[in-house]
Amino acid sequence: MRPIALAIHGGCGVMAKLDLSEDEWMAARADLARSLQAGWAVLTGGGSALDAVEAAVVVMEDSPHFNAGHGAALNAAGEHELDAAIMDGSTLAAGAVAAARRIRNPVKAARAVLESGEAVMLAGGAADAFARESGLAVVDPSYFTTERRLEALARMKARAAAGTTRLASEAEKRGTVGAVACDGAGRLAAATSTGGYTNKPVGRVGDSPIIGAGTYARDGICAVSGTGKGEYFIRHAVGHEVASRMAYLGESLTAAAAKVIHEDLAPYGIGAGLVAVAADGSVTAPYNTDGMFRGWVTAEGRFHVASHAEVFEVTEEFARP
Ligand code: ASP
Repeated sequence: MRPIALAIHGGCGVMAKLDLSEDEWMAARADLARSLQAGWAVLTGGGSALDAVEAAVVVMEDSPHFNAGHGAALNAAGEHELDAAIMDGSTLAAGAVAAARRIRNPVKAARAVLESGEAVMLAGGAADAFARESGLAVVDPSYFTTERRLEALARMKARAAAGTTRLASEAEKRGTVGAVACDGAGRLAAATSTGGYTNKPVGRVGDSPIIGAGTYARDGICAVSGTGKGEYFIRHAVGHEVASRMAYLGESLTAAAAKVIHEDLAPYGIGAGLVAVAADGSVTAPYNTDGMFRGWVTAEGRFHVASHAEVFEVTEEFARP
């Protein structure tokens, strides 16, 4: 079997260290660990990279600690509009939903779109209806709302009124979840899911569901899932750009990803990060913010999670739900 690999992120909009209690940090890290375990179980069981990234993202969508699914950001109307995508690097098949309002696990709907083969992306009410028809769980939008997201929206509205939106912290603004994997057959896959950014315009679609921007996978090269101000990820086609640098310039995964995050996106002063895996099983997780929720598994099966610079190795006790 070739090397298997898995990396995840829970967004580069990490709270300032002091904003969360130690219990809350532990809970967020434990959910990252559970996400890794879900994806890793698929890979070690001989499953596909596609199934692994979906499984990993579902855990983070279900967690209130990340901006996707339960705990997603609220838009300017105080509503949730959810974006997600998944891509199979071996066939370049992809599926996405945009501005969905009722799908409990948007990444599952993205997968169903991929499997249906009739479209790459479904949006709005059509995405919700498709999920329902596909037998996926559909929920009242209040399911997605948490106290923290209500507070974040109130703060962003106050900032907008005071003209200080640009001073908002990354945590107030955004977050996303994503996973990338390489399976035993050498196949690559990526998946990303998000509520977008707090106080975003109604109908705004970010980079996460845009194939080649926030989500991209191509066997033999790399798989990428991004987090950060989506408009710039779309303009720079970040996922495809990382893959292109590797394919055309022969850059390593680490060099290509670092160039895009730390150089190409630097002039805009936006928060940005990504996780990526290469065909050789190497992983990278660059970010330019104070922190990025992230996790990865080494080739020997050791689990690591982190929010800021400090990296925690996951022990059984640590990962207890
Ligand atoms: N990329 C997401 C978006 O723009 C937000 C984020 O990752 O922080 O929708």
